[in-house]
Amino acid sequence: MLIRSLQHRIAVLFVGLLVLVMALILVLVSRSNEHTIAAEMEQGLSTGAHVFTRLIEQNQRQLEITATVLSADFGFREAVATQDRPTIRSVLSNHGLRIGAQVMMVIDSGGRLIASVQPSGSAPDASPFPDMLAIAGAQGKSSDFKQLKDGRLYQIVLVPISAPKFIAWVAMGFPVDDRWARDLSEITGLSISVIHHDHDSIALLASSLDGSQRKAVPTGLLPLLRENTSEILSLDGEHYQIRQIPLGHEASVILQRSLEKAEAPFRAMQTALWTIVLGGIAMFVVGSIIFARRIARPVNHLAEVARRIQDGDYTHPIPRLPPDEIGQLALSFDHMREGIAAREDKILKLAYEDSLTGLPNRTFFLEAFERHPKNEPATIAIFNLERFGMINNALGHPIGDQLLHEVGVRLAHFTPGGALAARLWVDEFAFLLEGADEAVVKSFAEALLDTMRAPILLEGQRLDVDGSLGIALYPKDGRDITTLMRRAELAMYSAKRRHAGFAFAADADSDPPHEQLSLLGEMREALIRQEFVVYYQPKLNLISGKIIGAEALLRWQHPGRGLLAPQDFIPFAEKTGFIREITPWLLESVVTQAERWRGDGYLLALSINISAIDLLNPDLVDQMRRLVALRKVPAGELYLEITESALMAEPELALAHLAELEALGFKLSIDDYGSGQASLAYLKTLPVHELKIDQTFIRSVINSPKDSAIVRSTIVLCHELGLSVVAEGAETLDILDWLRKNDCDLVQGYAIARPMPAGEIPAWIEAFKRKGITG
Ligand code: C2E
Ligand code: CA
Ligand code: CA
Repeated sequence: MLIRSLQHRIAVLFVGLLVLVMALILVLVSRSNEHTIAAEMEQGLSTGAHVFTRLIEQNQRQLEITATVLSADFGFREAVATQDRPTIRSVLSNHGLRIGAQVMMVIDSGGRLIASVQPSGSAPDASPFPDMLAIAGAQGKSSDFKQLKDGRLYQIVLVPISAPKFIAWVAMGFPVDDRWARDLSEITGLSISVIHHDHDSIALLASSLDGSQRKAVPTGLLPLLRENTSEILSLDGEHYQIRQIPLGHEASVILQRSLEKAEAPFRAMQTALWTIVLGGIAMFVVGSIIFARRIARPVNHLAEVARRIQDGDYTHPIPRLPPDEIGQLALSFDHMREGIAAREDKILKLAYEDSLTGLPNRTFFLEAFERHPKNEPATIAIFNLERFGMINNALGHPIGDQLLHEVGVRLAHFTPGGALAARLWVDEFAFLLEGADEAVVKSFAEALLDTMRAPILLEGQRLDVDGSLGIALYPKDGRDITTLMRRAELAMYSAKRRHAGFAFAADADSDPPHEQLSLLGEMREALIRQEFVVYYQPKLNLISGKIIGAEALLRWQHPGRGLLAPQDFIPFAEKTGFIREITPWLLESVVTQAERWRGDGYLLALSINISAIDLLNPDLVDQMRRLVALRKVPAGELYLEITESALMAEPELALAHLAELEALGFKLSIDDYGSGQASLAYLKTLPVHELKIDQTFIRSVINSPKDSAIVRSTIVLCHELGLSVVAEGAETLDILDWLRKNDCDLVQGYAIARPMPAGEIPAWIEAFKRKGITG
């Protein structure tokens, strides 16, 4: 629609401009023609009138000369003197006929007619032209136009005959008739009509016109003459401009110049001009339509391609056009189309492809499962790399990325039975297999682990990669992808804990509660969305009375359930092994906080709770090593709190790691002392710096003599072993007093402060410095 209007607009604009110019030219030309015609008419009439007057005068002179010659003729004079009428008549007609005069008379001095020659059939007047004779008597001659008895008009001259004395008058006259009018008309180029005119009638005496025009003269003229206007005389469709000239006293001549004749040459020119104008416009219309089409068609084409691009079809290239501006536009447009196509390709890749490994990503994997026919069994397997965090930390992220890339390449080629491999996140991969035959899946798992166990060479270093696989079967272990993936993940953690290589969901957890399955997914999201928050609980030195540190305690700002306490998720995170994702994050965040507080002048030793599973994780030791090397917090300012039970699970590995951490300078703290079985004698063999007496004992030091005895002796023993003692859960000032009296070093509890967000710590410390313990 738009294009059509463009085409129309171009055509209309061009044609409109041309029409305008042409109309202007036409108006100017016809205006100037009108002027020219008007001037020409005026000029023609003036010249005609002039010539006409001259001709009348010439006729008069000719008459006079002939009459004078005649009067000088001796014989004629004799005949007049003797009144010899036949001779007179013969001489008169001889001379008159020679010049075409039709009226010839001889009049005696008394005014009486002596002889005359006149057109036949008209009786002569006995005493003609008395008025002329009176003038001639005075002036010697006279001339006039006279209507004679025959009703016709004549140009008459009177000349005296002297012999030598005046004896008579000779009169001669030409008839003023149609021939006369036509002759004069031919010479002057005007139409001529002679009329007799009194107030309300006009008699036509002669005219160069004929036919109906001639008949129309009296009626046409009458109103004009009566009003005395210079209007146009219209005669039977032809128009005349007129000029009236009196002919003697009785008649007048009407000189007529035909408007049509005057206009004729201009009319021809006008016709030619109109032909040119209309022809030109027609040609221009055609030309500009063709031109507009030529512009609009490629534009139209571009619009069509743009519409297709809008619909997501980038496949149609734009045909080459002539290399004008539109051709250039089309070319850029085509480049744009290719650009968009390439970018869309890239976006699709980004949406569905993991850029690091080139494997399909999580989204693609989920959609692939959705596409899987619901009535056919399938297998979901989740594979997690062992020790990836450690490799990443020890060798740096570029190597970690390369490793993942290599793993991706391996997995891309490991697709037995058309299995689909995808990368879910960091070091976790997923597989979708057709069918759910346990034997088949088992051999798949074994083959996969085998493939993965082959060492990878990266920058000259040999890396042993290993991993654990968790397997969930559709529809047996779950009907939706979320359940299946979480169960597979739980199975994977179970395999990891048991160093079993792989595990089936059914074996890992016979019937995991639904909320636990979703909890695992939620925790992962929480880590990504930064929903975990660290609270800090101040630690008071009872001897100096100063706050010397704080314990980091995790909270989960859950989007739906509010602020969750550790009991609500830590046990599950420990059970599933997910704590291994949380603790490194926590370490980072606590160290960062320690740096900030040190910067602000608060030298606080921060304690972090380490789970049993963390203690067995070599990646953690590695991360701690990096922290010490890179961050501005001395290792001695960081306390790692471990429970006795953590040491019991796998004592050798745990001890080895503890020794490493101690060597790095970290302080180790035994948490919840007294709730387990460990004896102080056993603890003596450990590289421990601090002991935290469980709050169940502290709570009852006042009331239970037995508990107070245990706490008192523990303090003494610890001091002997060189350990400092922290009392946990001191809720009252009495307990604080008791602890102080019994030489407890440090204390933590609601009596001093509850755990609070990091941001509140500095203000709280300032208040504590001013007011001390407020309860
Ligand atoms: P915990 O390590 O024994 O931490 C001390 C717990 O006692 C904290 O509970 C603290 O709020 C509470 N507490 C301190 N003073 C008093 C008191 O005067 N009276 C009473 N009734 N309680 C007091 P919270 O923060 O709920 O932590 C519970 C447990 O969750 C911790 O026990 C610890 O085992 C675990 N946990 C907390 N944060 C982490 C963490 O970041 N990682 C790991 N692995 N475990 C953590
Ligand atoms: Ca603790
Ligand atoms: Ca504790």
